[in-house]
Amino acid sequence: MAFRTDTIHSGEPLLAVLQRHGLEHDDANRAVAGLSLLDARKVRAGTEVTAAVHPDSGVTNVTFQLAIDRVVRLMRSPDGWVEVEERLPWTTDTVAVAGVVTSTLTDAIAKAAEAFPADVRTEVAYRIADVLEYRVDMSRDLRVGDSIVALVEREATAKGHVRAGRMLATRAMIGGTRYEAVRFDGEDGAERFYDAEGRSMKAAFLRSPLEFSRISSTFGSRKHPILKTWRQHTGVDYAARTGTPVRAIGDGKVIFAGWKGGYGRTVELRHPNGMVTRYAHLSAFGAGIKVGATVKVASTIGKVGMTGLATGPHLHFETLIGGTHRNPSVALKNVGGEPLPAAQRSAFAMRRSALLGDLDTRVLAMQAPAMGPEGLRPAGMRPVESRAAGATN
Ligand SMILES: [Zn+2]
Repeated sequence: MAFRTDTIHSGEPLLAVLQRHGLEHDDANRAVAGLSLLDARKVRAGTEVTAAVHPDSGVTNVTFQLAIDRVVRLMRSPDGWVEVEERLPWTTDTVAVAGVVTSTLTDAIAKAAEAFPADVRTEVAYRIADVLEYRVDMSRDLRVGDSIVALVEREATAKGHVRAGRMLATRAMIGGTRYEAVRFDGEDGAERFYDAEGRSMKAAFLRSPLEFSRISSTFGSRKHPILKTWRQHTGVDYAARTGTPVRAIGDGKVIFAGWKGGYGRTVELRHPNGMVTRYAHLSAFGAGIKVGATVKVASTIGKVGMTGLATGPHLHFETLIGGTHRNPSVALKNVGGEPLPAAQRSAFAMRRSALLGDLDTRVLAMQAPAMGPEGLRPAGMRPVESRAAGATN
């Protein structure tokens, strides 16, 4: 038995690839007609199609690799073609990653996450950023020398495909502040993370109106995602591709949605605490965004653009309190969300010490001289006060 692999070319019918594999036209037609587990018209170009060829009887079966973990196999039988679907199992183990920031978070994780293949490492960085997104604006707060360690599940198939699984715990020193997040799912099974004090990592306000992955995926090096800083004008600019979704920083009500001079297409939200947030230079409004509409935290209120006085696509973002501009990094500072109910605290404490103990042990075991002892030694992270003063003012 020999195996031959081909791929479906753009725009070609399934029939064509089967014919390239040596099936006669009518035989290939019957094979396609026998497929109910996949829609022949919707199979993507590039899908791998492998034929098993017997020296005497020709093609005996054809396998369509629909996803890393899903194949549909057509087998020739005396009664015609028979199809079966196979799901390849993923096995899970747990690994630690530990990175020191020299230029960007994704660079730091890419260097550190050797347990993951190169194409998965960025995903690991995004997962860490997601867990911290109510506390840290990764695109603005990171400093050279910051350190991040995390305990992550790694999933693999027998064929060696690897992907990032669940994030379990992370410890980070970012811009002079120490962060910790431990996964402790709700009784409903929903993913939840809590800090060292047992407060939810989810809070009233996101720290950035753009998803971290949206910024970094646009700018390869991510060295200069920010065009200007708070000091130079009344807001913060996030460079991102036109069309990038802009998120409501918190629950609120739309008090302005329209054109506003140099701001171009602009949305303003008023939040329950009275703070107003402004999102400018938008290329489009989000669905249903008009004055009086209510929005939920992280919902899309518009798309990045360059309307008004803008030299390139970016989001201009402002926070106003009592009509006065405030530095968003101060206005949006969260100390934490809802605390865990008292009844769950001891279970959380046990979970926390188990996960962080596991993380510490693994980080110590993997520690290489090149990473430097300072930021990564779990017990030796720099004190909180060391940089907090100068970092954000
Ligand atoms: Zn601006």
